[in-house]
Amino acid sequence: LISTEIDFEAPEDLASVLAILADEGDDVTILSGGMSLLPMMNLGLASPDRVVSLRRVASLRQIEDDGEAVVVGGMVPHVVVATEPAIQAAAPAVATAASLIGDVQVRNRGTIGGSVSHADPAADYVASLCAHRAQIVLDSARTGRRLVAASEFLIDAMLTDRQPEELVTGVRIPKMAAGAVSEYIRFARVEGSFAIASAATVLASGGKSMIAVGGVGPGPVVFDISAHEGAGWGNEAAEAVANAVFDACDNVQGDIASDADYRREMARVHARRVVRRATARLNNVQLEGGDA
Ligand SMILES: Cc1cc2nc3c(=O)[nH]c(=O)nc-3n(C[C@H](O)[C@H](O)[C@H](O)COP(=O)(O)OP(=O)(O)OC[C@H]3O[C@@H](n4cnc5c(N)ncnc54)[C@H](O)[C@@H]3O)c2cc1C
Repeated sequence: LISTEIDFEAPEDLASVLAILADEGDDVTILSGGMSLLPMMNLGLASPDRVVSLRRVASLRQIEDDGEAVVVGGMVPHVVVATEPAIQAAAPAVATAASLIGDVQVRNRGTIGGSVSHADPAADYVASLCAHRAQIVLDSARTGRRLVAASEFLIDAMLTDRQPEELVTGVRIPKMAAGAVSEYIRFARVEGSFAIASAATVLASGGKSMIAVGGVGPGPVVFDISAHEGAGWGNEAAEAVANAVFDACDNVQGDIASDADYRREMARVHARRVVRRATARLNNVQLEGGDA
């Protein structure tokens, strides 16, 4: 039976939200942009009795620079993540991922905190945040603050490390090293729909380089690819990374959009392509054809 009566609150400050969660976290559903929660309610997949909206909590809409990282408030909408110069400079792949989410309505209302909390394996932030080694900021009136690596926060499809008394208050994205580059690409059958596979990379010459792919399992596939640099980033290294990604994607699930084998192959193709794109940018070369 789906409940039609909902107890709704929209506190004005973070302390009030955290106080509610500290006392009754198990019974409360947080509402951010509503772009995943409301469709789930419409489909009967969620039927919350008590909803606490973050819409009036202004402090969650801030973007701060802590020197080493950009800290994006949980209520910052995708459109702002896509266009904010501080994020574009610190983590270009994250800004690109935000710009490709859904359509303009979804990007205006949907938030970064809502997306990571919802933990859809096909969400665009998954690969880009993991490649940039971002951390999820969790606050609780009872247990204080903790930061969890995005790759560890996203445990399974629709399952995160968040505890009932905690709120996702932001995402901390380390600034890329000087000279490093990052890229994000996705593959979807229809523009505006969820990606079948997505890939992000951060490449540095002589530094730490990462790859992450999304949509290929219940959790993200992410690993350090610095060792593949060898004599320098180029086509051979991109091929080696692509094959390593294929091997790592050993828990791919099929669904209505794609079977598992196709998804895994798409992960390989897009890993190769994203590394080639980043390599071209790193080496200041113009790409042509399918990689451009
Ligand atoms: C038509 C359509 C197309 C879409 N296409 C894409 C796409 O291509 N790529 C993509 O990545 N996404 C896509 N989305 C999803 C979209 O990005 C959502 O905005 C996002 O998944 C959820 O963000 P939200 O702010 O709307 O969260 P909500 O819907 O408000 O909440 C989602 C879930 O997270 C919980 N929650 C929200 N905020 C917090 C918080 N701060 N702390 C703890 N828990 C919280 C809620 O209780 C709920 O369970 C699409 C959505 C629609 C409707």
